[in-house]
Amino acid sequence: MKLSAIQRFTLLDFPGKVACIAFTPGCDLRCGFCHNPEFVLPERLCAISESFISAEHFFRFLEKRQGLLDGVVVSGGEPTAWRDLPDFLDQIRMLGFSVKLDTNGNNPDMIEQLIAGRLVDYIAMDVKTSLERYRELAGPGVRPEHIKRSISLISGSNIEHEFRTTLIREHHTEPVLAELSRLLEGVCRLYFQAFRPAQTLDPAFAQCHGFSMDEMAGLAKRFQTPERQVNVRG
Ligand code: SF4
Repeated sequence: MKLSAIQRFTLLDFPGKVACIAFTPGCDLRCGFCHNPEFVLPERLCAISESFISAEHFFRFLEKRQGLLDGVVVSGGEPTAWRDLPDFLDQIRMLGFSVKLDTNGNNPDMIEQLIAGRLVDYIAMDVKTSLERYRELAGPGVRPEHIKRSISLISGSNIEHEFRTTLIREHHTEPVLAELSRLLEGVCRLYFQAFRPAQTLDPAFAQCHGFSMDEMAGLAKRFQTPERQVNVRG
């Protein structure tokens, strides 16, 4: 396991915890709107591979943070693309830290293994769009049936979790939102996130637009059900 970067401190990314973030390089998807193409595209990763951080270095850092941080967010890229992720998370937990996993949900076997092994305390999964339109946003590497299985595994687990969708005006039209709502039927916590056109993996997405915060709040209200709590993140 190697890391592309470490964020030493965050109060925002792990609910209720003071945490750091470990970013893993590489991803099996190619979301056009991805803001971190340097951590996704192999040719861009090659250019920064000399600055990758070894697991040993990270654990030395973590040992010094015992008593100061509560948790570690493992994010990407896509952490579940790493086969040694279970060992990595186990080591983090052995040092007394809680673990939050950020995932794209394209690897349900790994998610199942992590849940069964109780190697995660919180899972945040991105659900990008309706299953029918998934490839359009996330590229040919996505397996929509895997996304569906991951949603079911996570929402059926007793691990704390959330799902989140970045809303893009040009993509998340009424019919797409209706399908997305059906896909997320059994989900109890959902966040809508604002899309910000900046650096994007596919330059065409830099021309797309987000919704205003008021519009997102209106959509959140529409998605809200007695079982499903929906909130907005700016
Ligand atoms: S899942 Fe998509 S948005 Fe997330 S890192 Fe991979 S390409 Fe980027």
